[in-house]
Amino acid sequence: MQNGSHASSDAEANDPNCAFCQRSEFADHILKETPTFLIVADHAPLVEGHILIIPRHHYTCYGAVPAELDAELYALKREVQRFFAQYYAPAVFWEHGVFRQTVFHAHLHCFPFGSTEYDLSKELHSRIIRSQDDVRAWYTARGHYFLMEDTSCSLLFAPEMDLYIHIIRDVLWHGVSSRTHQTSWRSQQQRYAEGGPLIAATMDKWHQFQQQGAGYADETSTR
Ligand SMILES: [Zn+2]
Ligand SMILES: [Zn+2]
Repeated sequence: MQNGSHASSDAEANDPNCAFCQRSEFADHILKETPTFLIVADHAPLVEGHILIIPRHHYTCYGAVPAELDAELYALKREVQRFFAQYYAPAVFWEHGVFRQTVFHAHLHCFPFGSTEYDLSKELHSRIIRSQDDVRAWYTARGHYFLMEDTSCSLLFAPEMDLYIHIIRDVLWHGVSSRTHQTSWRSQQQRYAEGGPLIAATMDKWHQFQQQGAGYADETSTR
């Protein structure tokens, strides 16, 4: 992000080596597509309802996504929140701001985990995030991060492995174990192998949700 002019021309490029630009990981499970974004079912879901919000253009992470996309991102998040509220539990959003990313293309994980039970008073987070501007500001000044947002607040964490493992084990794991009968964290390969029925169920419910007219099209008919 040091050179903004580069970033914007890179952003226009469709990266032939990127699984998200090429849609190879989710070609069969796109839930929604707009001129700017995709909502897809994750191909290796942690739980039923695990979906991703992905900008169509190639940006490294949301810290590199320009402000023009913010309004639509917020609208899509609200749509996912309504979907989760109706079928699952309140949304927890999660982003690898490059740190621990597996696909190097911005994507926001959406999990129907309910409350996270993260203890704010421990102050393990580095920033409380009020808007995407705060994420961009951190990324420009400090680089990598990871981010977690629940119904009460959005928190940015410094890219430290111990901290990351703590949040996964003590916060995110609570969400997985409360929604499934799993007793341990499954690998990406295992989740991919077992993901078919979860993806099908997510897609089914999403289509029901859209048919009720609860989708986001109404809200953005003026765009
Ligand atoms: Zn890409
Ligand atoms: Zn990811």
